[in-house]
Amino acid sequence: MTNERTIPDRVDVVIFGGGVAGLWTRWRLERAGYSTLLLEQSSLGQGQTIASQGILHRGTKYAFGKDVAQASMELLLAQEVWSRALHGADGPDLRRVAILSPTTVLWTSENFLSRFTGAVAAGVLKSGVKKLEGDARPAAFKGAPKGVGVWEIDEKVVDSSTLVRELARSARGPMANLALDARPRWATTGVLSWIDAAGRERATHTAAAVLCAGVGNKSLVASLSSAQAGSDAVARHVAQRRPLHMVMMRGAPCDLFGHCIRELSDKPRLTVTSARDSDSFVWYLGGSLAEDGVSRDESAQIDAAKLAVRECLPWIDVTGATWATLRVDRAEGRTPTGKRPDTPIVSPIAAGGHTLAVWPTKLALAPAAAGRVFDLIETAGIRPTGVIDADEPTLSPAPLPWKEGGVRWR
Ligand SMILES: Cc1cc2nc3c(=O)[nH]c(=O)nc-3n(C[C@H](O)[C@H](O)[C@H](O)COP(=O)(O)OP(=O)(O)OC[C@H]3O[C@@H](n4cnc5c(N)ncnc54)[C@H](O)[C@@H]3O)c2cc1C
Repeated sequence: MTNERTIPDRVDVVIFGGGVAGLWTRWRLERAGYSTLLLEQSSLGQGQTIASQGILHRGTKYAFGKDVAQASMELLLAQEVWSRALHGADGPDLRRVAILSPTTVLWTSENFLSRFTGAVAAGVLKSGVKKLEGDARPAAFKGAPKGVGVWEIDEKVVDSSTLVRELARSARGPMANLALDARPRWATTGVLSWIDAAGRERATHTAAAVLCAGVGNKSLVASLSSAQAGSDAVARHVAQRRPLHMVMMRGAPCDLFGHCIRELSDKPRLTVTSARDSDSFVWYLGGSLAEDGVSRDESAQIDAAKLAVRECLPWIDVTGATWATLRVDRAEGRTPTGKRPDTPIVSPIAAGGHTLAVWPTKLALAPAAAGRVFDLIETAGIRPTGVIDADEPTLSPAPLPWKEGGVRWR
């Protein structure tokens, strides 16, 4: 619903983008009594959140990196927040989010160095990791040879579609679609204008704009920035993208959630998550396969995925499976080296009104990003005027990648 009634004349904060960052921020601000309006260009979570692997990381992938402590600490704190929300104890009520798996595994291939690597990684992680033997291992390891090491990690995997749906339901403020070329701008200080989905110019009085649009943040920063001629440069300075080429395999015999570890690398060779698909499973494959596969075309990437599955899980028969790929960019706040940030990034942008650009860096860190937004809004002296009570969310989650109509399985 994008009719006149959904756009209030005055609202404390306008949020652009309804992925995990925008939705968690909306909940956080409403809890403090702020009125919000969420403007979304497409469907909720389109882009990264719906396409994510849904792992609430506890720092595993950083086990060999130099910033183990800081990254792991942020992720561990975030785990507690997620846990309370998923149990309905505090935070947005996420009790109806489907937990695809209560844990993940870290596994190694048969050779000695790989086993050693797995043991070191498990040692670095210390708590929340235990070695699995025999029948305690997931079904995917039933046929694995003796030398394969499997450790269980205490990190949940959530279904991104129900997560987006429940986050959207957890707050009450209005939502509306805007046009693809919405040209949002600060018309004057305190008045934000944009083009709505029906092509009409709209405006609202607001104290702040919070940009949670993932890859869309760059153009929003350019359009809302007060730096006029230099606005593109401002946008380049704050945002970066890291492309991925994910692979989907339909027809897996069992589900699997975990990381296949390479020799002393802080990136897993393969990260597998799964979704039920009639009488079998879809495996969603990321990790180094997706990062290194950016320069490969679809067919070469599928060949690389087959090789990775053969090397990481040689005992699993995937004859008869069908394959497809998905290109998707991770959007992040810019780091001086262009590398992956370890924490959420929330950047104030010089503009005609308070404007914050937000990148959670990870799904798991969305609560931390929302907390930083709240702190900055409060510190800026913006006072809550009371939540606007709209009806049920008027926008729906985007489809999961393997349920998209246009996927070419081969
Ligand atoms: C393949 C993949 C796998 C991942 N796996 C994991 C994982 O397992 N665990 C983990 O912790 N993290 C993971 N991540 C990272 C995580 O998904 C992201 O950090 C997180 O989802 C980003 O959320 P977001 O809300 O900032 O952006 P997005 O989810 O991209 O949401 C942006 C929203 O803004 C909307 N939008 C875009 N442009 C505009 C505009 N101009 N105006 C208004 N709205 C706009 C979009 O339609 C969308 O709804 C993964 C990322 C990818 C790409």
